[in-house]
Amino acid sequence: MTEQDYKGKKVAFYTLGCKLNFAESSSMAHRFEELGFDRVEYKDEADVYVINTCTVTAESDKKSRNLIRSAMKRNPNAVMMVTGCYAQLKSEDIAHLEGVDYVLGSGEKMNITSYINNLQKNETPIIRITDHRKIKQFFNSYSYGDRTRTFLKVQDGCNYFCTFCTIPMARGLSRNDSIVNIVAEAESIVGRGIKEIILTGVNIGDFGRSTGETFFDLLKALDQVQGIERIRISSVEPNLLKDEIIEYVANSKHIVPHFHIPLQAGSDEVLVLMKRKYKVELFANRIRTIKTLMPDAFIGVDVIAGTNGETDELFRESYDFLLGLDFSQLHVFPYSERAGTFALKIPHVVPVNERKERVQRYLDLSERKHRMFYESQLGTIRPVLFEHQKKGNRMFGWTDNYVRVETGWDEQYVNQLVAFRLEKVNTRGHVEGRLMV
Ligand code: SF4
Repeated sequence: MTEQDYKGKKVAFYTLGCKLNFAESSSMAHRFEELGFDRVEYKDEADVYVINTCTVTAESDKKSRNLIRSAMKRNPNAVMMVTGCYAQLKSEDIAHLEGVDYVLGSGEKMNITSYINNLQKNETPIIRITDHRKIKQFFNSYSYGDRTRTFLKVQDGCNYFCTFCTIPMARGLSRNDSIVNIVAEAESIVGRGIKEIILTGVNIGDFGRSTGETFFDLLKALDQVQGIERIRISSVEPNLLKDEIIEYVANSKHIVPHFHIPLQAGSDEVLVLMKRKYKVELFANRIRTIKTLMPDAFIGVDVIAGTNGETDELFRESYDFLLGLDFSQLHVFPYSERAGTFALKIPHVVPVNERKERVQRYLDLSERKHRMFYESQLGTIRPVLFEHQKKGNRMFGWTDNYVRVETGWDEQYVNQLVAFRLEKVNTRGHVEGRLMV
């Protein structure tokens, strides 16, 4: 079968987990399209199914297994390819599932189309996993065609080995492409008419391990790309979000005032158990610096509830720390035991019910802070990038500082940055107001 023979064949993707996976799925899908495949929805019948898995929680592992079963029911003759972090860490478990043809680890994602093999199913699944310490390739990716904004992958892997986390084992050590190449990708994104780039990676503040460059240098270079309208940084470890970066963002025309900072626990004792590289004081200082220089900045914070070692008292300490912090939203994760992690050896296991209660308390706090942030923005005029998505007769977009905006549909504003006066929070939790045109 030649490449041309894949014309009219169908490929369906399902992506779990982080923005990085979304960027990589998009790049894999475009490679399939270059071979003649049409991309269809995962719920439809396809000739090839690709699941790009995640393994952050036990729940995502279960979801991957269900997705394999459901696709095989739809078309038992389809080629089933499973890749991503779960595939890297639990390849044998996946290979035992009925219908799986390929289990491709993190080092093989970029080669996925070389395994199509005339759409033949395998009697025995083929497993290709590279040891995480030997994954050297950097699979350049950015998403396009499916969203108004693009996720541009600038870094992969992590050298931090926090005690609860399997990501370094799943994705390998920290690596990146050169600033010159990433700038060229950003230029090609601009050429596609995309207005907003979201910088994506596992530990993007650690950018430069492979090239001797720095994340700060990358930001300055991207900020100079002609035609780029918005750059959103996404998540940076607090120890790496240096004051010079915050000051630069405060003065940049293109990098938006939106930060996402993983705290994980608001107690120094728990941070030590997690082997995080900062104390709560540093975290609080970062937030203060951001808010002093950019009072309207949106700050999202990751936190884990019920990690091994988090006693009732330490949870209270963490909660009180967050209560006093000027953030805009929490991203809350219940602690989930992951095989092979050091956290399993930490005494004091928090019962699952208690973890759920702690999650709920954080979510309630998050909702209150989120609401307060939105209300603090009412009466201001902010630039909104409107999206293609249409629901009923409504359109949606994000302000630079990450307020979700909703208004009446008007095609001429799709993918346009428009000044918008924020007036009220509606029942869906979105902000309505007036286009200032
Ligand atoms: S910084 Fe820690 S939590 Fe984040 S990916 Fe690396 S090891 Fe995991």
